[in-house]
Amino acid sequence: MQNDKKIIIAIDGFSSSGKSTMARELARRIGYVYVDSGAMYRAVTLYALRHSMIAADGTVDTAALVKALPGIDITFAAPDPATGVSDTLLNGEDVEKQIRGMEVSDHVSPVSAIPEVRRRLTALQQKLGEGKGIVMDGRDIGTTVFPHAEMKVFVDASPEVRAERRFKELKEKGIKADYQEVFDNIRDRDFTDRTRKESPLRKADDARVLDNDGMTHAEQMDWLMNLYKSITARD
Ligand code: C5P
Repeated sequence: MQNDKKIIIAIDGFSSSGKSTMARELARRIGYVYVDSGAMYRAVTLYALRHSMIAADGTVDTAALVKALPGIDITFAAPDPATGVSDTLLNGEDVEKQIRGMEVSDHVSPVSAIPEVRRRLTALQQKLGEGKGIVMDGRDIGTTVFPHAEMKVFVDASPEVRAERRFKELKEKGIKADYQEVFDNIRDRDFTDRTRKESPLRKADDARVLDNDGMTHAEQMDWLMNLYKSITARD
């Protein structure tokens, strides 16, 4: 039988694997808080862009950004009752739309490779999970942020399928994009995220793999709900 014990659910995977959509929906269904950790890395990247800490060739002024970190506050607004989306706030300003554009996507991976940035955001994420009852998605949630999470999922899908999803999503949001640019960005981010020294993207040994290439949204949700039920029924 299912019990009321709150757990931590870590959902990691590649860019645009659909993990945010399913993580948000799972949190809504089981009454948990949802946290998009990628939005936090995107908000730091937006800050760096706005303060001219990223050169035209993409080089990040790491020293300046590390110095500025204590003054960068990232929080989330209350979820929109209709969509369940919690807008990301950078020093109190709603930056949800700006952090989703291609400029931030193009620069977020080198910013997230900076150890001090990771340490700061990891600490914030761990604080958000203190009370459990949380679904967090990202790249290193099951390996570094919550290595003891009771439920870990690693989402995979081919780069072609992911680029198509991302392209459609941007179009729907009215953000201008070119398919090839979106595809290249996904491949580049996969590479940087997997090969960085600090907390690279990898499947935790105890994570369950969800390869969602040929799955409908409803099938993915059933898969997740069944896993959640089997884990919470165990204790
Ligand atoms: O999930 P999303 O694609 O929005 O994440 C944007 C970027 O943030 C990723 O490409 C990755 O470089 C970084 N990220 C990370 N660790 C996380 C979440 C995101 O390094 N936990």
